Amino acid sequence: MDVRDIIDKKTKRLALSEKEIEFVVLNFTNGNIPDYQMSAFLMAIYLNGMNKLETFYLTKSMWNSGQTLNFSDLGTIVDKHSTGGVSDTTTIVIAPIIACCGVKMLKLSGRSLGFTGGTIDKLESFYGYNINLSMEKAKELIIKNGACVIGSNISLAPADKKIYALRDVTATVGDISLIASSIMSKKLASGADVIVLDVKFGNGAFIKKKSEARKLADIMCDIGRFAGKKMFAFVSDMNEPLGYNIGNMLESYEAIEVLKGKKGKLFNESVKIATKCVELGLNISAVEAKKKVLKSITSGDALNKLKDMILDQGGSLELFEGLHIKPILTIRAKNHGKVIGFKTKRLGEIVGQMGASRKKISDVINYEVGIKTYQKSGDKFKPNDRILSIYCKNLEVAKSVQRELLDCIIVKEYVKKNKFK
Ligand code: URA
Ligand code: CA
Repeated sequence: MDVRDIIDKKTKRLALSEKEIEFVVLNFTNGNIPDYQMSAFLMAIYLNGMNKLETFYLTKSMWNSGQTLNFSDLGTIVDKHSTGGVSDTTTIVIAPIIACCGVKMLKLSGRSLGFTGGTIDKLESFYGYNINLSMEKAKELIIKNGACVIGSNISLAPADKKIYALRDVTATVGDISLIASSIMSKKLASGADVIVLDVKFGNGAFIKKKSEARKLADIMCDIGRFAGKKMFAFVSDMNEPLGYNIGNMLESYEAIEVLKGKKGKLFNESVKIATKCVELGLNISAVEAKKKVLKSITSGDALNKLKDMILDQGGSLELFEGLHIKPILTIRAKNHGKVIGFKTKRLGEIVGQMGASRKKISDVINYEVGIKTYQKSGDKFKPNDRILSIYCKNLEVAKSVQRELLDCIIVKEYVKKNKFK
């Protein structure tokens, strides 16, 4: 086969065969196809698209480009994946819940980069938590606790890593087939039987439009089903932070509060996703699954399960006793008003720049910086109500970001007329 013929075929909008796609992916990964030919190939896909079957073949050749995990001896394994958002702590809430319901979960999670936080950075704010477990140790903990969350220290789908780096510098990240195959290659290499996806859209997600998110969700479900997996995808709004807190330790603390029963958007989203994981993992009705999920919270079992999971990976349980970090600045309302929206991505970016996230993977992060908000869109406030608290050690830093943080919380203020007085 000659890569030039394959590029030419895609340029003429013809569908590629499994063999052709595999040829390109494997030879690019092992260095036989240079970047300039792969760039042309990716641009041809970007401009002319791929059908479902081609997208599946692309995914397959990427997930088979490296090691694949197999946990068939443990029974059904469920994985849950969010495409990323701000203050999305659902994994830390969901893993112990579904473990309590008798569903097994292995989650390989990423670090924060840019405006979205990373689950394993949040887990490391339980100081001492070890994310670098061997697969043998992870298996042991799944058998003991039902769930285990670790970093992906093994190279799953190395082809994706190399292709993604090239997409990033050739403006070809945005194609839906390329995104779907990139995400799914990593999911399918990690050996789960049931995959529940949460595709985010809005001003705090990398996809802005709901219809685009639905399209991506459907393609990813098709790919998973072609691979013999049980699939479900939620499409959910990320036009405001999911929880009230942004920042690693603050988000971990909020996950604990939710497991203690604190209601709100993070609670509802977590229950929704956990219910689907339990429904598909145990093959029971949605009603039964939801009952189990809620019981694991009200009984305190899920909270205790999270403690076990943290302790078994060497993490400190101090955060379960309370939040020991204090805000350096709290901004209060001067008037009556209402929160009408958020610049969600920008909020995530500013907290990231305060030290909660990285620009490059070698940057050191600060687990204790972040912000706390007090209203969601539509919530009213009155004079002296708290609007925003800033957590960091340095007052100068807090003051320098205060104005812009407040600009990210869009409010409508009004003078209240007490006409019934
Ligand atoms: N996340 C991924 O892993 N890949 C993409 O292409 C986009 C988002
Ligand atoms: Ca299995």
